[in-house]
Amino acid sequence: MPKIIQRPRGTQDILPIDQKYWRAIQASVEKVLTHFNFGRIETPMFESEDTFLRPIGQYSDIVEKEMYEVKRLSDSKDPDEGNQRLVLRPEMTTAVARSFIENGLLSWPQPVKLWYFGPAFRYDRPQKGRYRQFFQYGFEIFGDASATADALVILAVWQILSELKLDHLAILEINTIGDKNCRPKIRKTLGDYFKNYTKELCADCQRRLSTNPLRILDCKTVGCQPIIDQAPTVLDLVCELCKNHFRLVLEHLDDLDIGYDLNPRLVRGLDYYTRTTFEIRAKDDERRQSSLGGGGRYDELVVMMGGQSTPGIGFAGGVERLIELMIDRGLKVADRTEPKICVVQFGQLARRKSLVLVAKLANLGYSTVAAFDKDSLNAQLKYANRMGVAYSLIIGQKEALENEVIVRNMSDGSQETVSVKKLDEVLKRKVKQ
Ligand code: AMP
Repeated sequence: MPKIIQRPRGTQDILPIDQKYWRAIQASVEKVLTHFNFGRIETPMFESEDTFLRPIGQYSDIVEKEMYEVKRLSDSKDPDEGNQRLVLRPEMTTAVARSFIENGLLSWPQPVKLWYFGPAFRYDRPQKGRYRQFFQYGFEIFGDASATADALVILAVWQILSELKLDHLAILEINTIGDKNCRPKIRKTLGDYFKNYTKELCADCQRRLSTNPLRILDCKTVGCQPIIDQAPTVLDLVCELCKNHFRLVLEHLDDLDIGYDLNPRLVRGLDYYTRTTFEIRAKDDERRQSSLGGGGRYDELVVMMGGQSTPGIGFAGGVERLIELMIDRGLKVADRTEPKICVVQFGQLARRKSLVLVAKLANLGYSTVAAFDKDSLNAQLKYANRMGVAYSLIIGQKEALENEVIVRNMSDGSQETVSVKKLDEVLKRKVKQ
């Protein structure tokens, strides 16, 4: 017997039974972002590695450990790509920025607002909430440097969570990490502080001392925590302009009644961020194991990628993490595709009529099931019960000849015979769509 093939570790099959969550999330994302006039963008699932390397940062976990290379099976080089390596996208912001530059979106009226929903790929140790292929929804605003844009992005996240009835379960953490003017001073001050503890820091943080001391603030290693706790606060080190920007963002959040926790250690792992950084986490995730989403301002990103200076701010959230939260909290999500009606037939003529009936029901907008290869009435009614339909429409030889169906209520077994012509009317009365 051939060996059973399994999906790769850290990936998931999304079966029909789970689609309702995906649909609910995508519908909420689309609804809210359309209200705020974001347009959908889709970029390729693989890109040249340059799209990600420099903006995300050579020493980030993503670039150092988590990217997948895409290659043809044949060893020979791809003449279209030269020496350029192709990788599966580990995130979308940089890919969207690449597209913004490549498609000349700077010539559009600014700000340009874009949203996306699709898979991203990162090599990681698979566990609950952490996959090698996972879906992100996210959105970006290019060409708006105002603090109001930062607050609008957070407002949109909040509205999406509220559409999904998850807003009361979530917490917003926010920080500022300075811009290109004050960042060198921040790095130096933190670097000088952490150098006093070189020996006590974990190996990763020792490396971060020379690559980016700001990242040490983000370290989860137990031994580093007391040292980080005593470190200078970034908010005290940022320049007046950055401080002022941050104050304005917080004022907007107050106006919008969106609560927040200031988290001075929130630096986020990617190099392209400037000024505002924020993360959303579930209230009971105190150990900050699995954030629901995160974002921030990236005023240098477009320049870093070879475009003309364009400020930007965005957010990306994890779809699986939202779904897991919905399931953990027992949130009910309606399944629009649950079948309402089962078509049951016996006899050759009835079978022919049954397919015409299925077509008619589909046109009327009813989700229908049928087990055409079962002959016995009992077997088909059993199937109808297992499928959880409210009504079965039964056609036997007599009904087929007289253009009628028997409408059977599956919960109490009551039946009435109805002419096919009147069926629409009868179903409208009986079946909730
Ligand atoms: P990041 O770009 O790392 O801030 O990711 C944004 C969001 O994507 C996170 O807050 C998570 O919700 C989600 N996410 C990131 N990595 C994974 C992963 N390996 N598996 C599932 N979700 C993820």
